[in-house]
Amino acid sequence: MYNEAARLRYAEKLAADPDAVRLRNREAKRIYRSIHGRKYAYKCRANPGIKERRDLERALARAIRTAGRLPSVAALVMAEQRRYWAEHPAAKAEHDRHWARVSWWLEYQTKPDLRLYHREKAKRRKMQDRGQTPVQIPVSAIRQRFNEFGNCCAYCGAGGDMEIEHVCAISKGGAHDIGNIVPACSRCNTSKRSHGMEQWYRSQPFFSELRLHRIRRVTRPPEGQQLALALA
Ligand SMILES: [Zn+2]
Repeated sequence: MYNEAARLRYAEKLAADPDAVRLRNREAKRIYRSIHGRKYAYKCRANPGIKERRDLERALARAIRTAGRLPSVAALVMAEQRRYWAEHPAAKAEHDRHWARVSWWLEYQTKPDLRLYHREKAKRRKMQDRGQTPVQIPVSAIRQRFNEFGNCCAYCGAGGDMEIEHVCAISKGGAHDIGNIVPACSRCNTSKRSHGMEQWYRSQPFFSELRLHRIRRVTRPPEGQQLALALA
């Protein structure tokens, strides 16, 4: 327990005669050790085998402590791999490139929104190549639109990985706007290409008036394209 008065007394004594204080401390330590050492010697006499057991316990504890430091097979293999890479930097670079590709692929496969982001970006790049200046559509807006269709193809109703489909094709003057976007499976997307939506859709075996109605409801073509879409 902390005792301020005792601490001050000790500081006073130490300042007055430091050598005497240190001598006293050493003596106190010696007495403590002699008492407790004797206690242990008595314990050993009273309990035969305690010393051997203690030694055994200490040896066991040391073995457990050092067991983790022994190299595992994996660590040995890794060390050999590192040695090889140190000698062959080109192999190391190839390894790094491979894992960068793999981790990117894994991320792309497991994060639907990342996929959407890159698909949207690809559409914009395509438009830029045509000399247009598209505005970025946030992934959240596209995700919301996809959810309106239950994350299924707006045309055939199939589930799976959905692509961004412009109802009025970009090549036909369709806008890169959320009002022109529905989810589509890659089969429908490839099949439709730049055909007029309704004309193409009505000729498909999976045509559904209900789904067509839903597409019309969510898409809001800008003025001027209303007529073109109606005629298509
Ligand atoms: Zn489809």
